[in-house]
Amino acid sequence: MLGSESFIWTLAALLLLVLGGALGHGLAWFGVRRHRQRGDEQSAGVHALLAQSEAKRQFIFETADVSFFEVDVPSGKVRVDGRLPQTSPDAGVESRLFSQQQWRDLIHPDEVEQACAQLKDYLSGTSPRYELRFRFKVSGDDWRWVLCKARIVARDAQGQPAKVHGSLIDVHQSWLMRLALHEEREMFATGPVVMIRAQYAHGTSKFVYVSTNVRKLWGYEPAALTSLSNTMSIVHPDDSRLLKDRFVEAMNSADEMQVEFEARLRMADGSYRWHLYNSTIDRSHSERRGYFIDIDARKQAELEAAVQRRRLHEMVQELRAAQDEGVVVQEASDMLHAADNLDEAFSIIRQACERLFPGWSGWLAATQPGGNQLQIGASWGRAPSQAEQHFLARDCWGMRRGKPHAFNGHDHGVCCVHLKSIPREDLRPYLCVPMVAHGETVGTLHLFSQQTRVADDRMADVQARAVRFAETLKLALSNLMLRNSLHDQAMTDSLTGLHNRRFMDECLGNELQRVRRDHGVVSLAMIDIDHFKQFNDSRGHDAGDVVLKAVAGVLLECIRGYDIACRYGGEEMALVLPGCEQADAVLRMEQIRRAIENLEVHHDGVLMPKVTISAGVAQAIGGNSETLIRWADEALYQAKRMGRNQVRVSTKTGLAVVTDLGELDPLEQANRG
Ligand code: GH3
Ligand code: MG
Ligand code: MG
Repeated sequence: MLGSESFIWTLAALLLLVLGGALGHGLAWFGVRRHRQRGDEQSAGVHALLAQSEAKRQFIFETADVSFFEVDVPSGKVRVDGRLPQTSPDAGVESRLFSQQQWRDLIHPDEVEQACAQLKDYLSGTSPRYELRFRFKVSGDDWRWVLCKARIVARDAQGQPAKVHGSLIDVHQSWLMRLALHEEREMFATGPVVMIRAQYAHGTSKFVYVSTNVRKLWGYEPAALTSLSNTMSIVHPDDSRLLKDRFVEAMNSADEMQVEFEARLRMADGSYRWHLYNSTIDRSHSERRGYFIDIDARKQAELEAAVQRRRLHEMVQELRAAQDEGVVVQEASDMLHAADNLDEAFSIIRQACERLFPGWSGWLAATQPGGNQLQIGASWGRAPSQAEQHFLARDCWGMRRGKPHAFNGHDHGVCCVHLKSIPREDLRPYLCVPMVAHGETVGTLHLFSQQTRVADDRMADVQARAVRFAETLKLALSNLMLRNSLHDQAMTDSLTGLHNRRFMDECLGNELQRVRRDHGVVSLAMIDIDHFKQFNDSRGHDAGDVVLKAVAGVLLECIRGYDIACRYGGEEMALVLPGCEQADAVLRMEQIRRAIENLEVHHDGVLMPKVTISAGVAQAIGGNSETLIRWADEALYQAKRMGRNQVRVSTKTGLAVVTDLGELDPLEQANRG
């Protein structure tokens, strides 16, 4: 049983083995087939992938301006895949081998050392990566910027780098742009052009942006400028007005978008420098954007050139003037010696000075009797109108020191007191030349420049000429003044200071002539102090003189500028009243009579007894001066007869005193009676 069972089992086992073998074989055969089929499929896939990736690689090489390289470190050879920058876009993608030297030659000489050094550092481990921009040769002298990155991909048994993979990317355009941008930014930050943005509103503008180079150029922190409330605060006061007008004009003009001007700007150290400003107006944002360029050197040169031109012009003028000087002075001198009075002299001097001192205004001040005061007699050009017409000799430095005084701006001289009322900014350089003749100051010659500053040598030149002319002037003026004073003496009563009888006769004759010619009027009043003999006898002659002077003083006080008060003789006086009707003359005389009646005169500290006057008034109605004097005299005698201290009017004129005199009524009645 066991045997058969074993056999069966053995047979079964064999069968199983055979079946198993056959199955196994069949299975194995089937498996190999499947495997081979899969392998084929996989291989096709890999090939497709490879082709795909190769296509991609080609595409990248062709389109991305990138190339890959492999460096065999021990030999230094470089294999490049892809288009190198030097190849043209349509050239195929190559794979090329370069020797170390050939590769070096492709890198720009300026960067090759750095490229090698950096690679060495990377290979030795000193530097963790290799990344560098350098110029790569395109052809001949043509270079393109590339970005080169590399990394070690294999090492030898000793751990030394054996292979390096890297890429070269053409960054030429973007790098050039970056360089240009950097350069521009550098220019912006350190260049000579200050860029600004300013916002404007209600007539003022404010910086909202100022380029940082203001630190270097102007010495300001940009924030210091943007915090200013008005851009004008750094503009020179002399330029800001003009500049403001210019802006307003530009703003109001519909099409003007660009404004350009030159102005002085205040630097942080307080100095001013000329700048050219150019800006564009953006009306929609109420903004101006522009730049400032320092043009100080050019402007200074221009100003200097202008000064030189002006000086040249002045020199030519001076040369001409010098030629003329002799002629003008000689002419003026001749005419001055023939002049009859000071008025004539002044007009000669005026004309001579206009020719002698072109570009200078001036005046001539004559010393007044007494010698302490001067009065301007002649002026020419645009002499300062605010200056004093009368001034004291000691208020003029020229007079005080007895020599010419030059003022050439507030930093170069002291200004005379008589010119103090001229505003400081209007005061121009000037000269005061005193004229002394026979030990007495005759007057001063003053010259005023029309320019704010006169060169020192020119000032000295004008001064020398002024002194020469003053030399000529002073003798002629002195003679005229002497003649004038002699004339005055001859025509003036020395005790009372009134005109004398000679003068009265002269001027009454002139007045009557004028009356006849112009159909005008003139009245005459004859005045006599009452009982003056008695006064003299009781108080003495000296006291009498004092009273006479006081009475004359009242006359002078009560008359108008063109009335003439004279001492006719003794205690008799006369008033010539041009343009005054008889009636008005009576009123005036009555006023004077009352003033004298109330006059209080002291002599030797003692109050003198009151004096009164009697007066006779007559109006000229044709005839000569003797007749008029006689008529007035007759009226005066009538006043005496009627009891003195009163004014009587001549009955000879046939003119009634038609006036509401109030208190004068009795006089009127008496007169008519
Ligand atoms: P009547 O009112 O009538 O004019 O009286 P009267 O005394 O003023 O007149 P009379 O002609 O008699 O005297 C004039 C006097 O005037 C005489 C003289 O003493 C005085 N007299 C004239 N000239 C001067 C002078 O220069 N100085 C002084 N102190 N007295 C003078
Ligand atoms: Mg008298
Ligand atoms: Mg008398």
